[in-house]
Amino acid sequence: MQESLIVERIETRILDIPTIRAHKLSFGAIRQQSPVIVQLWLAGGVCGFGEAATIGGPSWNEESPESIRHAIDSYLAPAVIGQDAGRFEALLARMYAVCKGNLFAKSAVEMAVIDAVARAHNLPAWQLLGGKRHHSLPLAWTLASGEVAVDVEEAQRMLAERRHRIFKIKIGAREPAADVAHVSQIARALAGQARLTVDVNQAWDGNTARRYLPQLVESGVSLIEQPVARWNVEALKNLTATLASALVMADETVCTPQDAMGLARQNACHVFSLKVAKHGGLLQTRKVAAIAEAADIDWYGGTMLETSLGSAASAHVFSTLGASHHGCELFGPQLLVDDIVEARMPIKDCELQLPDGPGFGVEVSLSQLQRFDRARQGLTAVHVDFGQYLAT
Ligand SMILES: [Mg+2]
Repeated sequence: MQESLIVERIETRILDIPTIRAHKLSFGAIRQQSPVIVQLWLAGGVCGFGEAATIGGPSWNEESPESIRHAIDSYLAPAVIGQDAGRFEALLARMYAVCKGNLFAKSAVEMAVIDAVARAHNLPAWQLLGGKRHHSLPLAWTLASGEVAVDVEEAQRMLAERRHRIFKIKIGAREPAADVAHVSQIARALAGQARLTVDVNQAWDGNTARRYLPQLVESGVSLIEQPVARWNVEALKNLTATLASALVMADETVCTPQDAMGLARQNACHVFSLKVAKHGGLLQTRKVAAIAEAADIDWYGGTMLETSLGSAASAHVFSTLGASHHGCELFGPQLLVDDIVEARMPIKDCELQLPDGPGFGVEVSLSQLQRFDRARQGLTAVHVDFGQYLAT
């Protein structure tokens, strides 16, 4: 064992960073992101960082910033400290032995391990993940203000600045007919200038999806993300078989490699949304992507609205993937009022540029970590504004 690569210490903190505007999804409105940041020291003195972000705390799936931090501090860190950081798969096995599930928490620890080992060898992380096949990826933006005029103005500004030409519209909170009208108006305003996708975030049942998705496709939507509940694979499969000229993408339904295999066996979607946190890390993301490639399923580089740290880590693994893809949506940093790294990944001609420095190629600012640290701010958790979303 290389003594300098032994994991010596792990610290976690929860940050609270406001968003630049309310981000409205099918289940609530997000005004603040609360990523968990892992700082991991190797015996040789090198330090790596990892991140796990949730969308709306435990509204998106079971994990919350508080549960992630608790799982790491109480179970995952003790399983990893004293071990050889270079044995990534062996460390994962130790984490699985002490903790079932908790994939977001595992992903944050694994991310910090890979960042630290890459830095110890003065290599970009993509060199440890198979080597990069892409220097840049098309970068989508999500329109989620809930207002047509605001969404259109935002999209036109992004187009003029050559930052984005793929736009995802978050729907599912209102009546389906109102959502279709909302999307159609945006589609008309952006016709010929942009590619449009929608994310229903599980809000519709199978019959609602069967009735309204063809109308969305008619209005110009080319990719439809998670229209039905994550358990509703049968509806996903039917939509995949029957929707003409649009692709069906699984997001919440595809977390583990076993989920991916099940969807592939049933021909239940055309695209997987890949997210490092929900798969349980960078290596698991590659396993899910390998199943996609073998099953003739495309991939899309998804986001949990991470800061530039988690976004850069995601960009590193996405850059290593072959096969057909639909770009990425690693725009988390742009949705936050401020960041935790010295310099963000550049965006050029609507593409995110992969950073090539050591580790994930971004330098975390300790003063920014302190500035947004929940413990220092004395704040309480405010994950999501449910407002009218909750039935009375
Ligand atoms: Mg989604």
